Amino acid sequence: MSEASAAAAGPALGLHALLDNPLFAGGIGLGALGAAAAFARKGVIRAADVARHRMLVNVEISKQDPAYPWILAWLSQPRPTPGFIASRITRIHNLSVATTTTSSGPFGSGGQSGAHFFLQPGYGRHIIKHGSAFIAVNREKHNTANMNTGEPHEIVQLTTLWAHRQVFEDVFREAHLLAAQANEGKTTIYSARGMDWMPLGDPKTKRPLGSVILDEGVKEDLWRDVKDFLSSQEWYVGRGIPYRRGYLLFGPPGSGKSSFIHALAGELDFNVAMINLSEMGMTDDKLAYLLTKLPKRSLLVLEDADAAFVNRRQRDADGYSGASVTYSGLLNALDGIAAGEERIAFLTTNHIDRLDPALIRPGRVDMMMRIGEATKHQAAQMWDRFYGDVDHDHSGRERFLARLDELGLFGVDKDGQPSNRHTSTAAIQGLFLFNKENMLGAIEMAEGLVPRKFEP
Ligand code: ADP
Repeated sequence: MSEASAAAAGPALGLHALLDNPLFAGGIGLGALGAAAAFARKGVIRAADVARHRMLVNVEISKQDPAYPWILAWLSQPRPTPGFIASRITRIHNLSVATTTTSSGPFGSGGQSGAHFFLQPGYGRHIIKHGSAFIAVNREKHNTANMNTGEPHEIVQLTTLWAHRQVFEDVFREAHLLAAQANEGKTTIYSARGMDWMPLGDPKTKRPLGSVILDEGVKEDLWRDVKDFLSSQEWYVGRGIPYRRGYLLFGPPGSGKSSFIHALAGELDFNVAMINLSEMGMTDDKLAYLLTKLPKRSLLVLEDADAAFVNRRQRDADGYSGASVTYSGLLNALDGIAAGEERIAFLTTNHIDRLDPALIRPGRVDMMMRIGEATKHQAAQMWDRFYGDVDHDHSGRERFLARLDELGLFGVDKDGQPSNRHTSTAAIQGLFLFNKENMLGAIEMAEGLVPRKFEP
């Protein structure tokens, strides 16, 4: 053999020798098997992916979506057990609890409180059966947070077979119906959280308008005006006038301004969207933006309307304002375009003297109403609401009113001179709540209604 041919045969011989080596050949065999298995595994995964994309359909609902709580509530509904094997996998075993508290009483608040618990699917995967379709549910909490609220992002993903995709329509319809039933007779209170409107707790039981006791004619006048406005859309649209109306309720704290607005919302089947203008961090831009996204069918409530005017004075004086909604920011927000839907705004303040007359203009404030200190008429009505069922001959009520008169709490002294003394409806409610079962106790303790002057 020549040197050259020996060199060429060398590697071939070497390979043969290696292949003849059982250890080496076995290694290659195993390697090849491993590669084939990995390849097959990839193939299976890809095929499964393709099959999943072709055969399955997903719906993802994020926590920001209004449908999120509806779907959770729907998932927590008890459902019929579908046969032994299926029941093993279609029961949700990982539940979390959501607690809501309620309060009740003759004035709709401040009474006994109770707690209501309901179970909802916990985080993780679950399988449920709806009709003939199996639905995989995956509830996940992400480790990113909503920039506005600081809360972690959350999603619920529903997956079913492509052939059963129409089940989602059914699920969403049922979930919506369930939510509508649960909110029937309830008012949702929205408040601004960051740049979003968020429900403030659970929807509240509607407060009856009759439970808010204002001075003679006040409630009736406001009610008539709002009803008239709500039935005049064509009139506004026909004349090209923005379909909005503003009310200013002013008077001392604890006179029933907020209670009236909430009860009115309930009566009209509206929700309430509240912004406190004295809240730190509430800027003109934020206010304007929030008003563009006002939740549907909501009464807009701008509390502490005087804050914007105080800011102006402060800024004029020292170039700095504590909170940040300005006078022009408030006017712009009120003047903002009202889209097709009605917009009813309530401004409230305890300090009418701080407001500017520029506020009282059609579309900004169309009607002003003082909701003041408790009058004899209100005190009598509140008594009847609390003790009407035990004070049959009204003698208790007359003694109570006489006592308040004696204490000069209706603004006039015993001898007919101005007393400058008043009490609030909130204080009377407090007295009655303290003496829930004891009307005589309420009369005896009436002196507690006299406002105390605290000296430093
Ligand atoms: P305001 O908004 O004027 O400060 P609120 O409506 O917040 O007063 O009233 C505070 C509490 O006092 C509430 O629990 C409410 O039920 C009660 N209250 C005050 N005024 C009235 C009223 N006129 N009629 C019925 N309840 C009242």
